[in-house]
Amino acid sequence: MQLFKLRNIILYFIYFYFIFLNNLLAETLNESGANVFMYHRFDESKYPSTNINTNQLEDHLIYLIDNEFNIESIDEILQKKIAKQSFLPKTVGFTVDDAFLSFYENGWPIFKKYNIPVTLFVSTDVVNQAHWNYMSWDNLREFINEGGSVALHSASHMHLPLYDISQVKNDLLSSISILNKELNISPKVFAYPYGEASNEIIGLLKDLDIEFAFGQHSGVIHKNTNQYYLPRFSLNEDYGKIDRFIFSANAKPLIIKNFLPNKILLKKNTIPQIQFDLISKVNNSQLNCFSNSGGEWNSVDLKIDLNKHVELNLTEPFLAGRGRINCTTKVGTDWLWFGYQFTIN
Ligand SMILES: [Zn+2]
Repeated sequence: MQLFKLRNIILYFIYFYFIFLNNLLAETLNESGANVFMYHRFDESKYPSTNINTNQLEDHLIYLIDNEFNIESIDEILQKKIAKQSFLPKTVGFTVDDAFLSFYENGWPIFKKYNIPVTLFVSTDVVNQAHWNYMSWDNLREFINEGGSVALHSASHMHLPLYDISQVKNDLLSSISILNKELNISPKVFAYPYGEASNEIIGLLKDLDIEFAFGQHSGVIHKNTNQYYLPRFSLNEDYGKIDRFIFSANAKPLIIKNFLPNKILLKKNTIPQIQFDLISKVNNSQLNCFSNSGGEWNSVDLKIDLNKHVELNLTEPFLAGRGRINCTTKVGTDWLWFGYQFTIN
């Protein structure tokens, strides 16, 4: 009888030890990341694909504040990334592209009201041309004085991968020198216009001492993310509804390695053999990938082997422009996300 009790006690200990170990493992595997949001226009309903209404924006900010998110500037996030420091739980940051006047007049006042830092990616030609729909240099100087941060978004806002690399270099050098002259800044962060990148342009950014570059593909930044191809969650009138915002803010990184093809710029009318190895511990049967190949978002057939090697079986080529994939899965209560964008020419 005594022996039986002792055995039960030992079994209990073993049982609780494994539960403890399991929780510990689950925590270390669900790596922390930083979720960065991207907006363009504010209260310009004529352009629903790039616009957010300021009441939606305010709902987003209030959600983050009420739920005690750790809102950091893009510079803080990127410094942690380069130092390979882990991010605090619930770290998020804000970017706005293009410096439309509607950001200055409608968006920035709301960010200021809640004391939330914004990095603004500015294409310099339109500002230089004093285009009526864009911020002026004076507006940008005031934005910086009020705590805003300005970063690079090319001079011309052209589809960079479609041009000769020497033209791209001239364009970037022009935007760097004019930001230096007008705003007295030397930004180290770039955002590809339309999120369109190529390996050749990444090489150029490195030559120009630019340290980080954002795309426009969805996903969560973590310590292994390519610092020259950082993901962001794009928010607009449709994709900015509060449910989708809450989902984006709470998404965790789906960590992969050995992603192929390793070229970002692909030829149209060919079906790429997309594959990668999963690092995040996920249930194979619950991994879902979607792609816009053929011009429409569809679920993709996956082949996953015992070594967690994943192959996407696309049935149609991507159309010219932006070829995107998104892979997601649920682990416990967390949604893990990996997104990628190819430039298709
Ligand atoms: Zn842009």
